[in-house]
This record gives sequence, C-alpha cells and structure tokens, in this order.
Amino acid sequence: ACDMNSSRIRLLDESTINKIAAGEVIERPASVVKELIENSIDAHATDVRVEIGGYGTKSMLIVDNGIGMSHTDASIAFKKHATSKINRIEDLDSILTMGFRGEALASIASVAKVELVTRQESELEGTKVVVDSSGIRSITSAGTAVGTSILVNDLFYSTPARKKYLKSARTEIAHIVDVVSRNCLAHPDVSFTLIIDGKVTLRSPSSVKMLDSIVHLYGADVARSLVPLEYDSDLISISGYISKPELTRSGKDLQVFLINGRPIFSKQLSNAVRLGYYTLLPKGRYPAAFLNFTINPVNVDVNVHPAKREVRLSHEKEISVMIVSAVEKALARDSLVPEVQLNK
Ligand code: ADP
Ligand code: MG
Repeated sequence: ACDMNSSRIRLLDESTINKIAAGEVIERPASVVKELIENSIDAHATDVRVEIGGYGTKSMLIVDNGIGMSHTDASIAFKKHATSKINRIEDLDSILTMGFRGEALASIASVAKVELVTRQESELEGTKVVVDSSGIRSITSAGTAVGTSILVNDLFYSTPARKKYLKSARTEIAHIVDVVSRNCLAHPDVSFTLIIDGKVTLRSPSSVKMLDSIVHLYGADVARSLVPLEYDSDLISISGYISKPELTRSGKDLQVFLINGRPIFSKQLSNAVRLGYYTLLPKGRYPAAFLNFTINPVNVDVNVHPAKREVRLSHEKEISVMIVSAVEKALARDSLVPEVQLNK
C-alpha cells in the first residue's frame, strides 16, 4: 500500500549536485586542463604552465601569473555558481571571458583532491585552500608569488565509474596536448608550457603569427599544405588557413575554429568548410582548417553546452554561405578548383 504522507522528493545536497554537474563539465583529464587554462586566461595571465603526472589521473598542476584571488574570493571560488564574470543573464550577450558558469572549480573539487594557492598583488600573503569531494578541508595563509596555482590530484577518485571510462594513457595525453595546442593558437600572446611526467612536451611558439604557430604545433608538413583564407563582411570576418585538398584526415583533429578568441567545436562551421571543397575531398576525409572568426558577440550563444565547447550562431544560413564562398576563393587562388566549377 502507499503511504500518502511519506515524501519521496528531496533536495540533493551540494556535494551530490556538484558530482552530477561534474559529469557534464569534467569528462576526462583534458577537461580539467581546459577549464583551468581558461580561468588563467580570464585572470589575464601571460604565462601558464601545465604539469601532468600519470596521464592526468595522478596529478595535474596549472600555474599562472594572472591577477590571483583575494583571501575572500579564494574561500568561495569552489562554491557552485561562484563567479566573478557575470552578474545577470543579459551579460551573456556580450560575454568575452572564457568562463561564466561558475561551475568548473566546484565540479573539479567534487571529483578530485584539489589544492589552490593564490595571491593578489594587493595582498601581502596568499591563500591556500585544500578541498575535495567532501568539501573544504582547510583555508590557510601561504607565501606565494602573485598568481594562482591549482594542483588536482587523484582525478575521479570519488567517481570510480567515471574513471573506468577513461581511454588509454596515450589517448588521454593526446587530448591534453590538443587542448593546450588550441589554446596556444587562440592566445598567441600567452606563453604556455606543457610538461608531461617531467618532460617538456610543448612550449608556446615565440611568434604570434598563426602560420608560425601551426608549424610549431602541427609540423611543417601540415603547414606546407595550407592556403590562406581571408573573408570580410558586416556579419563576420574570417582569417586563417585551410588545407589544399591533398591534405586530409579521417577525423577533425586538424580543425581549429576560434570564435572571438574562444576555441570551439562546431559541426556547422566544419560542414560549411567541407562544402567549399565540393567533390575534391574523398569520402569520410576532413580538411585541415585553422580559422579565426570574428562575430558580434550578440550573434553567438555560448551557453548551449556545459563545457562551452559548442556555440550556436544566429544567421546560421548566411554565415554558412559566406564560409563556402571564402573556402572556394581560397582554393581558387591556389588554382586547384577549376573556375568553371566555381562560377556556377
Ligand atoms: P567561472 O570561470 O565560470 O567564473 P570557475 O569555477 O572556473 O567559474 O571559477 C570561479 C571563480 O574563481 C572565477 O570566476 C574567478 O573569479 C576565480 N578564479 C578561478 N581560477 C582563477 C585563476 N586562475 N586566477 C584568478 N581567479 C580565478
Ligand atoms: Mg572557469
């Protein structure tokens, strides 16, 4: 029989809520690296060092020379929806920071053991916060340089099921290298260092020219097969490089799309680029594309994916048409596509 008075619905406690949210934001070690790099960028860091132990499951240390946090801010940074980046929903229309959901630190701390050490210029002493899936362990003063360092140990120790879904060390490392590479391209003025098991695996190129960065990050062979692409209209401007049709991959690992400086994945943009090649690409193969899109932020909805990986664009159709035509022109300049085919 059913007891009419018993209640089955209850509000989840904060640690459970965070673990559920973490499932969306923190899929794998590379997600942690992505979120922490974005925080460093938002804190105006010019130098970001990422040190990986194991393949990220053992330890990840991200050290930046950004503005740091006050003692008070450091104490609440791990709370869900704690953010210094927006106040109201309207702020999302003009969002220029990488973060805004106030979810990353809370999510990371719910699935790992975290130590944050941070100091603002205006404070003589820094703050150290130790936090894990059961909450804040300690908040103490600590001597440290201006900036922030976050050590993430034992990722997914509190969610063993998630840990089981991780791929091989090689795959997880490849994801981390990919995240750092994309950020190198997105932020040429920031110097990144990626150290894996004590070995420097990647260092930011010293040049701010995109092509030099591509050579550095993806190799000269890739760079040699590229042609420049430039496009400008009221709605959108695009600059960067796409590959001649002979350079293709079975996946989209050579496609880096930046929208207003944010590295994003976009089926729509990727499809439009591919369309511009007409029949020049073999089935199931993708061209390389390193493209910077500048679009009025009002036309970019960044709040469609918890990890902010995907964005939604207004004027989708027009933008796709523009991309197709930009790709055609770039390839035509290299006289690879017969003009007849282009001028129909
Ligand atoms: P969000 O980035 O969406 O605001 P996070 O959970 O990633 O949310 O971070 C919470 C807040 O902690 C940020 O809004 C910022 O004020 C502060 N913070 C996080 N990382 C750093 C950092 N590396 N340097 C300075 N402040 C930081
Ligand atoms: Mg963030």
